Amino acid sequence: MDRITVNLINEPDLNLAIIGARTCYDSFSPDNTKEKDLNLLHNLKKLEHLSIFEHTVFTFAINGISRLCLQELTRHRIASYSVQSTRYTLKKLFKKIEDVENEISIRDFVKHFCVVPEFENTELEFIYIKQTYEQLKTIEELSRLGYKNDELKYFLPESFRTELIWTINLRSLMNFIKLRYSSKAHFEIRHLAQLVLDCILEYDMEIYNLLITQDDKIKKLLVYCIKCGKMFNTFENVKEIRCPNCESKECEILEKF
Ligand SMILES: Cc1cc2nc3c(=O)[nH]c(=O)nc-3n(C[C@H](O)[C@H](O)[C@H](O)COP(=O)(O)OP(=O)(O)OC[C@H]3O[C@@H](n4cnc5c(N)ncnc54)[C@H](O)[C@@H]3O)c2cc1C
Repeated sequence: MDRITVNLINEPDLNLAIIGARTCYDSFSPDNTKEKDLNLLHNLKKLEHLSIFEHTVFTFAINGISRLCLQELTRHRIASYSVQSTRYTLKKLFKKIEDVENEISIRDFVKHFCVVPEFENTELEFIYIKQTYEQLKTIEELSRLGYKNDELKYFLPESFRTELIWTINLRSLMNFIKLRYSSKAHFEIRHLAQLVLDCILEYDMEIYNLLITQDDKIKKLLVYCIKCGKMFNTFENVKEIRCPNCESKECEILEKF
């Protein structure tokens, strides 16, 4: 599931939720410290006075998830979605297929356009790569015969990657994280939930703490990439530590916090 990326592209403002909460109780005061404000938010979360969290809004650019994962994501109705259209973007597939025989392997080609999960059985992965390649090649051949994208999109595998802009408020995001960062969730959307949390942790630790439950609290790692020298943060429970800059796995954990 590599090549899935999530970027937070706005600047969510937790103060708006605080203003909402303080308005409800008419409790604005110069003595309100940051700590008091945050305690209030955590208490209101416990009391399920959740509407105040709707004022803090996040916009993410999500790239590379499968259409299978998109289908699960869009079940979260309290959010806005702008998804890449297969009607207009299939031509990128046709361009790339020309390179396969010369420059790139079939596996890389399939990985470029489709999510390749970490199958436990390597034979299953082999069958999946072969079958998916044939499927994509058929689409390209049919396109050359003049068939339109609106018909050809029915031939796309569910694993076909897509990209979208996703806007969601903090209340709905809490619900998303609760349901999808759970061990019961399917592994791809769980991975997506992890990437969303990664972005938020990097942006604002206080929002992150509101999103996760006490049980989910995992240590953050400060990591040094031996190959390119970049320092970055990740979590102790990530499957694999990989540098976001050069993708090297040669990394050293400097600190847990
Ligand atoms: C482990 C797992 C397995 C799943 N398996 C399946 C499956 O087999 N089949 C399937 O169809 N779905 C499945 N789902 C999807 C699930 O049923 C929800 O559609 C999805 O998780 C979105 O959750 P939500 O409705 O809370 O989110 P949102 O749609 O974002 O809604 C947020 C909240 O708003 C309120 N709300 C929204 N719309 C309404 C409404 N019409 N009426 C009343 N309240 C509303 C509810 O309180 C809801 O929790 C699965 C989800 C998980 C996590």
